[in-house]
Amino acid sequence: MVSLRKFIEKINTETGFTGDLRYDEPLALHTTFKVGGPADLWIRPEAACFLEYGASLLCQAKAASIPVFILGGGANVVVADQGIRGIVLDTGGWSGTCFAGEEAIIRSGTRIDTALETLAVHQRGGLEFLAGMPGSLGGALWMNARCYEKAVSEVLVAAAYLDEHFRRSLAPYKPEDYGYKKSPFQRREVLILSVRVRTSPRPEAAIRREMAHYHLDREQKGHYRFPSAGSAFKNNRDFGKPTGKIIDELGLRGLRIGGAAVAPWHGNIIINTGNARAQDIRALVRIITLHVKSARGIDLEPEICFVGDWPEEPPDG
Ligand SMILES: Cc1cc2nc3c(=O)[nH]c(=O)nc-3n(C[C@H](O)[C@H](O)[C@H](O)COP(=O)(O)OP(=O)(O)OC[C@H]3O[C@@H](n4cnc5c(N)ncnc54)[C@H](O)[C@@H]3O)c2cc1C
Repeated sequence: MVSLRKFIEKINTETGFTGDLRYDEPLALHTTFKVGGPADLWIRPEAACFLEYGASLLCQAKAASIPVFILGGGANVVVADQGIRGIVLDTGGWSGTCFAGEEAIIRSGTRIDTALETLAVHQRGGLEFLAGMPGSLGGALWMNARCYEKAVSEVLVAAAYLDEHFRRSLAPYKPEDYGYKKSPFQRREVLILSVRVRTSPRPEAAIRREMAHYHLDREQKGHYRFPSAGSAFKNNRDFGKPTGKIIDELGLRGLRIGGAAVAPWHGNIIINTGNARAQDIRALVRIITLHVKSARGIDLEPEICFVGDWPEEPPDG
C-alpha cells in the first residue's frame, strides 16, 4: 500500500492532478447494485486534467504492473466483496457534450441522462431511446447497450479512445465490429474517451415527451424499485423467447440467496433486497444458469460483468 501511495503521489505531482482520490474506497458506493468491497485506490480526476492524467496513469501503472480498472457509472458490474486490487479509474469527472454539425460528441464519463438533457435543450433527437438507462456513455458503448429495439452502435459515428500504447486514436463505426451486447472495446484494454453520435433536429417538447415515455415504462417495469444492474442475463431471443420468460416458467421468480433475489415481478432482474453481498448475486446467477441448463438445455450468458477479486468457483454439478 505504501508503494501505491508513493506511486500515485509522484504521478499526481507530475500531472497537476485535481479530483477525488480515496484509499480503500468501498465500491458499493459507486455501483447501482450497491455491493462491492474496497478498491485499493479509487481515483476520479476532474475534466481539466483527465486526458493527460489518464494517459500518464495508465502508462505508468502498466510499467509498474499495477492493475487499473475503468469504472463508468457502475450500472453493469458486480464488484467482488473482496474488492478490486490496484487502481479504479472512475470516469465520472470526464463529462460534457459538444456539437459538430449534426453530430454530438459526448465525453465518456457523461451520465446518459445528463447527455440526453443537453441534447434536448439543443433540440437534437436520436438518443431518446436511452432515456432512464443508468450509467455513462463510455460504459454504454463498451456494452453496446440496447433498449427499445435500438443499440448504441446504431447511432454511433466514431469513438475516440486511448489505445494500448496510450495514444489517442479514433475508431470509426464499422458494422462488423458490433453485435448484440458486443463492442470491439471488450477485446482490448483501452480507455474510451468520447462517443460521437448522429443526431437530427427535433423540437425539444417532442424529445422530452419521448424520453418521459421511456422513463415511465422503466418505472412501471420496476427498474428503480431496488438496486440492480438491469438485466442479469443476455436476452438476444436466440432461445425463441425472452430470457426472463424462461426463468419465470421454471418458477425461479423470487428465488433468494442471502440478500439477493430474482425480482418477484421479472425473471431477468436480480435485485439487492437491502443487505446482499456480491457473492449472493454470483451464487444466484450460477444457480439460475445451472437450473436453466438442466431443465431446458439452454446456456444462459450473464450480461452483468463480475469484476474484482473473486474466490474460485466451485466445480459444476
Ligand atoms: C435499472 C437499470 C436498467 C438498465 N437497463 C438497461 C437496458 O435497458 N439496456 C442495457 O443494455 N443495459 C441496461 N442496464 C445496464 C447499464 O445501464 C448499461 O450497461 C450501461 O451502459 C453501463 O454503463 P456504465 O457506465 O455504468 O458501465 P460500468 O458498469 O461502469 O462498466 C461496464 C464495463 O464498461 C467498461 N467501461 C466503462 N466505461 C469505460 C470507458 N470509458 N472506457 C473503457 N471501458 C469502460 C468497464 O470497465 C466495464 O467493463 C441497466 C442497468 C440498470 C441499473
